[in-house]
Amino acid sequence: MPSANSLYIYNSLSRTKEEFTPLNPPFVGLYTCGPTVYSEVHLGNIRSFLTFDIVYRYLTYLGYKVSYVRNITDVGHLLNDDDNGEDKIEKRARMEKIEPMEIVQKYTNNFHVVTQLFNLINPSIEPTATGHLIEQIEMIKKIISNGFAYEINGSVYFDVKKYSEKYNYGELSGRKVDELLEQTRNELAGGDEKKFFADFALWKKASPQTIMKLNSPWGIGVPGWHLECSVMSTKYLGQQFDIHGGGMDLKFPHHECEIAQSMGADGVNPVKYWMHNNMLTVNGTKMSKSLGNSFLPLELITGDHPLLDKGYTPMTVRFFFLQANYRSTVDFSNEALKASEKGLSRLINAINTLNTLNPHEKSSVNVAPIIEGCIESMNDDFNTPITIAHLFDGVKLINSIKNEKESISKEDLKRLKEHYNVFVFDILGLKDDINPGNNDDGTINNLMDIIINIRNQSKEKRDWTTADLIREELKKLHISIQDNKESSTWNYET
Ligand SMILES: [Zn+2]
Repeated sequence: MPSANSLYIYNSLSRTKEEFTPLNPPFVGLYTCGPTVYSEVHLGNIRSFLTFDIVYRYLTYLGYKVSYVRNITDVGHLLNDDDNGEDKIEKRARMEKIEPMEIVQKYTNNFHVVTQLFNLINPSIEPTATGHLIEQIEMIKKIISNGFAYEINGSVYFDVKKYSEKYNYGELSGRKVDELLEQTRNELAGGDEKKFFADFALWKKASPQTIMKLNSPWGIGVPGWHLECSVMSTKYLGQQFDIHGGGMDLKFPHHECEIAQSMGADGVNPVKYWMHNNMLTVNGTKMSKSLGNSFLPLELITGDHPLLDKGYTPMTVRFFFLQANYRSTVDFSNEALKASEKGLSRLINAINTLNTLNPHEKSSVNVAPIIEGCIESMNDDFNTPITIAHLFDGVKLINSIKNEKESISKEDLKRLKEHYNVFVFDILGLKDDINPGNNDDGTINNLMDIIINIRNQSKEKRDWTTADLIREELKKLHISIQDNKESSTWNYET
């Protein structure tokens, strides 16, 4: 059982909870796979970013100096996440009849607005794939010279079979190379240029239709999708770093390939703790664009979606996600959201009540179990639902002090106020976006007004992104929103 004093993290690589001991304390390196900026992020993506936002916030609370890297994929991510098919960004560029880099800019800007809405802390570094082309080419060269990759017709593939002779391909996902070999015999009949079905592209030759043409020693093409994360994580966090996070769906092939690339280039296993968050389902079914049950942030805020009967604020959704353990699936439904909306407002009301309580000579209540319970549950692999349960034990206590059934000393009151401020606002990152004006720093002050306006407009402006709509509304309120990542708050024009 995790002790109250140390943090335990469930490591997907060892499939156990391990005590967290950073490689170079007090520094911690945290990398998480960011968005491919070809469309708006949906709520499943937001769950993943939120999971690692909590990890970042809690490690910081524990006193670690965290370098947090979250990339932007702006080239090389092909449809179906495999080596064939069109680049996702190019496909969108063709649809919208604009430059691929304009797509990249548009959805990067939009992503930054969405992260602000959900109160996600900006990473320390947000590197892009196109900004690290030289480093990617260098890594491919190293892998080739170590004998773990081969060039064929202007593309370079990672040689999984060769790699498996020396290392354990499949250690993260539990896949067996023998089984993959079996698949190869069937799949390669189609004339694929790869030697082995599980081989993956490090460099993919450009087809005549490709718009984004990049230069390399192997000719014009684009880097493979898995490569950028290996390059950018180790460039900024070192050949070996502490935590790599991402959604469960990225475990294979994406993260498995990241391990193979680092081992193949440097012989170093890059990550000490792998963390994976589970998926979001909708009314019990998997969320997917093709099933029509995926949600964009704007649809959620406006309520303009066939599966919703009303809109919800971003903080309601944040609270809803935190009520489930990040390693469990979470089911998205109207009922669940309504319950979260009520729960969050009960919690915020209790904090407001706490600020008005008068201390007594002595306490009739014991605040220690609430405070210790929150720390213990967070130390147990960031178990936010249990933390929230302890916070609600405190809500009962606060209300009984208010109703004069119990009393609290000056010292206990101070401890409790501090505890709620730190846990609710700093660690869980919640804000009061239901009652405007309650945030003392003035941020997201008029969000409800904005949401109501957006709700009225959104029917005519269906093709607008969340950022487009919100920016329009903010202009009317003389608030500007900056697209660069330095800005984490709304800026009021004076
Ligand atoms: Zn990645």
